[in-house]
Order: sequence, then C-alpha cells, then structure tokens
Amino acid sequence: MRHYHAKQLFDGEHFLHDVRLSVSDGLIIGISKQPQKTDEVLDGLVSAGYVDTQVNGGGGLLFNQQPQLSTLRTMLAAHSQFGTTAMLPTLITDSLEVMQRAADAVAEAVQLDEPGIVGVHFEGPHLSIAKRGIHADTEIRSLSDAELALFCRQDLGKVMITVAPENVSPDLIRDLVKQGVVVALGHSAATVETVLLAIEAGASGFTHLFNAMSGLSARDPGMIAAALNDSRVYCGLIADLIHVHPYNGRLAYRCKNWQRLMLVTDAMAHVGCDLDVLPWLDTQITRHGNKLTLDNGTIAGSALDMASAVRNAHQHMHIELGHALNMASLSPAAFAGLEQLGQLKVGKQADFILLDRQLSVVSSWIKGEQQMTQTAAAQSKG
Ligand SMILES: [Zn+2]
Repeated sequence: MRHYHAKQLFDGEHFLHDVRLSVSDGLIIGISKQPQKTDEVLDGLVSAGYVDTQVNGGGGLLFNQQPQLSTLRTMLAAHSQFGTTAMLPTLITDSLEVMQRAADAVAEAVQLDEPGIVGVHFEGPHLSIAKRGIHADTEIRSLSDAELALFCRQDLGKVMITVAPENVSPDLIRDLVKQGVVVALGHSAATVETVLLAIEAGASGFTHLFNAMSGLSARDPGMIAAALNDSRVYCGLIADLIHVHPYNGRLAYRCKNWQRLMLVTDAMAHVGCDLDVLPWLDTQITRHGNKLTLDNGTIAGSALDMASAVRNAHQHMHIELGHALNMASLSPAAFAGLEQLGQLKVGKQADFILLDRQLSVVSSWIKGEQQMTQTAAAQSKG
C-alpha cells in the first residue's frame, strides 16, 4: 500500500485540497482528508490519467508502419510523458494483412497486461473516398467477412472502429455493436438521414468532429449537425488549434457539454521525439511547428499531446478546468466502456497524473506504478 499527500486533487467532480490518496494493488483504496503519514508529497494538481481513443503513433514510430508490440510500448512511453495513461492505438486504413498484424500485436499487449494498452481503434478502411484525408484510396473498401471477424475478436480489449455510414449498412453496424464493438462515424460525406440511421443502429461516436465530414449548411445539415445535435453520441475533438478553430471547439462544448466531448490527439509518430519527416505512402509527412502536412499541403494527423489538448481547451476554448480534464479522461473512458478509468474514486484503477501550474505533466502512474518522468526520459535520450 502507498499513501500520497496530494496538495490538490480533482476526482472528476470536485477539486479537493490536502488529501491523502491511498493506492494498493493498482487500485485507489482511499481518498481522505488526513494527509498525515504519507509516503510522498505530490506538490501540484493530481488528476485522473488521460485516455486517448485516437493515437496513431509516437516516439518516432507509426503503428501502421511497425504493427508490433514494441511499437505499442514506444507509443505509450512517448505519450505517458504527456499524461496519457490509457490508449487505443489507432490503425489508419490499411491492407487486411497489416490489420491482422496490428490486431495480433494488441492481443499480445492485452495478454501481457501491458500498461496503458486497453484496446485498438481501426480508423478505416470502410470510409468515404471523398473524405479520405490521408487514407490510401486504394485500400478503402467495403466491409467483408474477414474484417467483420477481425473486429469481433475477443482478445483485443476494447475495439473501436471508425466507419463512413454510406459504406457500412445499419444492419452491419447493429451486428458489430451487438458483438461489443464501439462504432464511431467519420471520414464521411453522408447526409444527415444516413447518419441518423447509423446512430439508431448503435453508432455512438464521431471521429475528429469537424474534420473530414459533411458540413453544415442551411438545407443540408450533414454529419456535423447530427454530431452536435444528438445528445446520445460522443465526439472526438483534436484541440491543437490547427484542425479546429477554437471558436468551433467552444461551440461543440456548448452543444455536447464535457459528458459527450472527448479530447483526442490523432497523433502521428512525431510526438515525444524530434522527428520532422515521416515517409507516408508515396509521399511524406513533414512537421512545421505543431502542424503536420503532406507535400501537397493536406493536414496529416497531428503532433498534439494530451497535456497540450487540455491546456488548449482550457485556455483557448475557455472551458473550465474540471470539464477540460474530464474531456480528457472520464468522457473518453465512458465512451469506450472503460468503467475502471477516468476518475479518481475509491475502487477505480490507480491511473493518475501530477500536473504543475502550467498544466504540464510532472509524472504519471498506471495501476499505481510510476511511469518514466519527462526529465528521466530526456536524460535517458541524451
Ligand atoms: Zn482521420
């Protein structure tokens, strides 16, 4: 058992001051107002660890390019420096063979109980060519029995998929949801009618709201209006101030509140390392400051980390801090059905982070185990 004296702690509902956080066997077993007899003082704000449901890479590696266990470890190490304590490694549209290798890597991680790897997100390949973004048009295809079997594997932890509802029927969505798959809609040019049928069939989320989806206009509400208007569904938001104007982020918050809005990174290999240029299909993805683009200028994922996403939501979208923290933890955990995560309450998993005044991550813990700190990571790199 270990006791921490948290100078400030946000439990998902309230900001508490000078409390004792007690952890045993990877779980939170007590939060009390008696900060005496503690093993360690956490001088800052303690929050639930961040849960990222869309992360393609980190630490110089991209999951698509090296779909293996070591990549997942590198990604987690890169992102845990920025507060991510649970992630759905995300595979962009690819061949069935790569999808299977990625699934096998995730299954291995789940079997080994690898810290922070809680499932997988297949973003594609059943998308709309018109809204494909950087996804390879040659690999975008309809859903066959082979992919259906893959999505319904029971050894992958939580499985999330992003599909375009004009490419996957409501019946198929119903089947997938029945088998435990979390279905999000995105990379789609669908009409609002098609989107609403998909929601009725069980689709429960939207992938990177505002990006790569049919827009909102007077006589054509499209996917954005359905996402903002339907109170059942969750929306992922890339709060890097590049993908989405902060004023639109604020609009999403006004419509969805924190309970249905979740911060995601959509990070490529560039997070947590000094990589600039990443080869991609027949082109490359280059970093310009915080922006990643293909040579033709198309935005190509992000260089965002969760700590910056929370900071941007709070400072630039004027979302109160507790809500911004929940949008990075409780809301994505609820969306993915990870009931043990996202909040600091007795009985929950001891995934927590220590933040300084600038909301930078000082340290993070998964199941009560402290992860490498930023300073330690920087030292080991140099
Ligand atoms: Zn995407």
